[in-house]
Parts: sequence; structure tokens; C-alpha cells
Amino acid sequence: MPHKIKQQRIECPNCGHHIRVEIDASDGDQDYYDECPACCMEMHMNLHIDEYRQKIQLAVCSDNEQIF
Ligand SMILES: [Zn+2]
Repeated sequence: MPHKIKQQRIECPNCGHHIRVEIDASDGDQDYYDECPACCMEMHMNLHIDEYRQKIQLAVCSDNEQIF
């Protein structure tokens, strides 16, 4: 699989600030935390690579409203 870095624009779930993030799709599925530069709240990033359809799904949520 070629090394792929994609840029995606996300919206902070806490303050609505738009952030551009770089996604390294060659690493597969990822689950990590990032800090919003505007409100300094942690965002829970959930990255899913759909290799079959060549699609990247990025879900962002704040930890305040976790739904399981
Ligand atoms: Zn924010």
C-alpha cells in the first residue's frame, strides 16, 4: 500500500472551530486524541480506513458526549 497522507477538514465538537488535520492512511485504523487549537479541549478522533472502497472515515467527538 502506498504511503498516503490526506488532509481533511474537521469541526471541533466543542466550539465548532474548523481544523485541518493530516491523516496518514497507511497506518490503518487509528484511535487517538487531539487538542483543539481554539478551545484547547481534547477531541476524540476515530479513523477508519475502508480499504475495499478506498475511503477514509474520520469521526470526531468530544469526550463529554460519548455514546456507546
Ligand atoms: Zn474547539
